[in-house]
Amino acid sequence: MDKKTYTGGCLCGSVRFSLSGPVDVVNCCHCSRCRRRTGSAYATIVHAAYSHFQFTEGEENIVTFNPDGWNSRRFCGSCGSPLPGWDEEDDEVGIPAGLFDEGLDVSPSLHIMTASKASWHEISGNIPQYEEFPDDW
Ligand SMILES: [Zn+2]
Ligand SMILES: [Zn+2]
Repeated sequence: MDKKTYTGGCLCGSVRFSLSGPVDVVNCCHCSRCRRRTGSAYATIVHAAYSHFQFTEGEENIVTFNPDGWNSRRFCGSCGSPLPGWDEEDDEVGIPAGLFDEGLDVSPSLHIMTASKASWHEISGNIPQYEEFPDDW
């Protein structure tokens, strides 16, 4: 069993978290929603069990946009960094990969939602690409 603990946090350092279990998968999502919330060509998201995740500092600084909506997102109220989103029922957390401190030893294994990727972005590398989601998701 992987006992490694990963840590990370927002740009200003007020919100900090730890992940004390294995990473399930890291994906690159090219949907328009991820593009907007990151301001980037795509979002690189680390998926893991929510039961292995916890905020260690600054939880009171988390602002939630549209809490019950399909485009709900959380960010740091001080610096605006995008923060992890989770589903407690499904025991799943999605953590923007750029938030991790050094030492994340896993890398993306797939691109998803490539049918809606930015027209100005060309996907490189040779990990699998899916126009939407893989069949087994
Ligand atoms: Zn911050
Ligand atoms: Zn997306």
